[in-house]
Amino acid sequence: MEKKQERMTRQKKVILEELNKVKNHPTASEVYDMVRSKLPRISLGTVYRNLEHLSAKGLIQKLDMRKGQRRFDATTQEHTHILCLNCGKVEDIALQPDQDILTMKSKVKDQSGYELIGYEIELHGICPECRSETEKQKENQACKKGR
Ligand SMILES: [Zn+2]
Ligand SMILES: [Zn+2]
Repeated sequence: MEKKQERMTRQKKVILEELNKVKNHPTASEVYDMVRSKLPRISLGTVYRNLEHLSAKGLIQKLDMRKGQRRFDATTQEHTHILCLNCGKVEDIALQPDQDILTMKSKVKDQSGYELIGYEIELHGICPECRSETEKQKENQACKKGR
């Protein structure tokens, strides 16, 4: 029993370490690929369970974005995510709530009687890589038309 407990701890430790190395908010199966060299016997289901466990303990953040699978983030302090609607990648964006959001707090109370204690912003856009892809496609089409 004790031995099993230890193994669980090591799995979680490795998962946490690997997740801390990346900034790309991997999915459970991406985390699975990342830890497999260190934990060759681990299964995807176990990785998933460990990730859920770590997020329940507040050691990692889980992200349910509008697009794609559930993702995981080792950065637990509040920060804003921007999602590329084209390729589905999720990145961090350093944005401080501006005055509008702060005044929203009192407006929410006035209008609904709710005390606003938190908010979550999910930004949607097209990442630079995808943008340059579409630019290239446009150029190609323009070239073909020109001929
Ligand atoms: Zn993209
Ligand atoms: Zn993040």
